[in-house]
Amino acid sequence: MSKKTSCIECGGDIGVPEDVVVGEIITCPDCGTDFEVSNVDAKGVSIKPAETVGEDWGE
Ligand SMILES: [Zn+2]
Repeated sequence: MSKKTSCIECGGDIGVPEDVVVGEIITCPDCGTDFEVSNVDAKGVSIKPAETVGEDWGE
């Protein structure tokens, strides 16, 4: 049974692998925003906006 969390950007459900680890990057299937897993416990998974380090992808 996989875990699930809610997108903090659009509120959609994001499926999370059962073996997810803190620091893993997950992507919202609805809005495509990347998030970093900040905490994993028995109740679920917490996410925060992924930090993009110095990469500039242009426009
Ligand atoms: Zn989203």
